[in-house]
Amino acid sequence: MSFVITTPLYYVNDKPHLGSIYTTLICDSIARYKRLSGEKVIFITGVDEHGLKIQRTASNKNVKPQVHCDEISNIFIQNWRDWDITYNKFVRTSSKNHESIVDEFYRRVKKSDDIYMGVQKGWYCVGCEEFKDNPENSPTQKCPIHQKTLEWKNEENLFFKLSKYQSQIEDLINKPSFIQPKERRNEIINFVSKGLKDFSISRTNVSWGIPVPDTKNHTFYVWFDALLGYVSAISQNFSNPSLETSINNGWPADIHLIGKDILRFHSVYWPAMLLSAGMKVPKKVFGHGFLTREGQKMGKSLGNVLDPNLLLSKYGKEAVRWYLLKDITLGNDGDFQNRRFVDIINNDLANTIGNLLNRTSSMSRKWFNNKVPNNEDLIIDNTLELYSKEKVNNYIKHFNSYTLDLAANDLLDLAINTNLYLNEKQPWTLIKDKNNISLVSNIIYNVLESIRIIGLLLLPILPDLSSKIDIQLGSIYDKNKSWIEQLNWGILKHESILPIPNPIIEKLEYE
Ligand SMILES: [Zn+2]
Repeated sequence: MSFVITTPLYYVNDKPHLGSIYTTLICDSIARYKRLSGEKVIFITGVDEHGLKIQRTASNKNVKPQVHCDEISNIFIQNWRDWDITYNKFVRTSSKNHESIVDEFYRRVKKSDDIYMGVQKGWYCVGCEEFKDNPENSPTQKCPIHQKTLEWKNEENLFFKLSKYQSQIEDLINKPSFIQPKERRNEIINFVSKGLKDFSISRTNVSWGIPVPDTKNHTFYVWFDALLGYVSAISQNFSNPSLETSINNGWPADIHLIGKDILRFHSVYWPAMLLSAGMKVPKKVFGHGFLTREGQKMGKSLGNVLDPNLLLSKYGKEAVRWYLLKDITLGNDGDFQNRRFVDIINNDLANTIGNLLNRTSSMSRKWFNNKVPNNEDLIIDNTLELYSKEKVNNYIKHFNSYTLDLAANDLLDLAINTNLYLNEKQPWTLIKDKNNISLVSNIIYNVLESIRIIGLLLLPILPDLSSKIDIQLGSIYDKNKSWIEQLNWGILKHESILPIPNPIIEKLEYE
């Protein structure tokens, strides 16, 4: 059994923006956590390359669509390398393998008698690649998302019988586990309750798409094609890529993590298509919120778009990861505020975790001959041990329910409490009396052990910082042993050597 997690397949009209980075970082963190927990993970990402918008973007640049797609697709791959994203599959919907999966899938849906030819009339947004269903739309009507004039379309299209799946979709979306967060679930329940309408799955005026088999001049509607990327990704490295190969090697997905704007496609259209093809539906669709900047919506026209590459080069990937994963509740909208960003990184990572490690390691080296103290003969108190156990349990519970911000706060709480413990015990005062040596070794050991566990808990969230902490403790994390078991208390070896302390993170300055 594999754990299958997907980002959306990003549309190649532009390079990745902060929103795509955000989604991908969350998936990366969950994928890392699942691997550490011993699961076999298939982490899928990729690009959605077809459609009228891409055709027009390429034509404006005076290049062939494939050339444009290759260029943007490479930028995505480079970005995921820069951000250290541990994906397993990168799917491109312009690949031959994907095309054959779409073909096979379409034949199954047709066999279920779910395809018919009809006429599609209506106002269309090319930016959304979606018909806007308000019948009052006039030619001057604009897309509420893109603020661009809608285009009138009146053409012969193939339709998919979505209406046939009304009751099955109702059953599915009524399951509390299927759509998260629950506020979004209510929106979808409301939409479905109005009655599902069949939707067109082909276009006649779009050459940059996958040709519909046996239907001249028709290419597949970009969404019908793109959603199947999740399925084709699974079988892409097999010698016989097919629906059956994907089904036998991981499908269905455990979670599709997407932005809230494309929830309807993922939680209604997509499951109905899969049911029609006799395939299992994804187990969960999680719609996250949007990011704003200093309380304002980001947009090219506003000139306030935050360039993720600039953040990366200025602050490093771990600072950005911590802010996005810890400060934003997954599912809610999030705001990027520069002052808050600097404060959080300095408080949480530099002061609370970094300084704790630095000063404790220095004390231990000074008083115990550059080593972790030996206190095997005397156990004085286990308050920190009990607290650590509680936090580790909460962290696991929170990661399993995708409440990453709470998981991050669990490890931060452990660090805050360890600081309090150290300040209360004041080993620097106790050490002045030689009779206190056992007591002091016990305190220092407890604090170092707590830091070791904090470092391990950071591994899925901030892998680099985690590894720096491990190095400072003498490189004791064993990759070949269970990570979960190493979260147990008491693994740090007495009298092991502590390296010379180095700051693990630089403090940030205000702009
Ligand atoms: Zn639009």
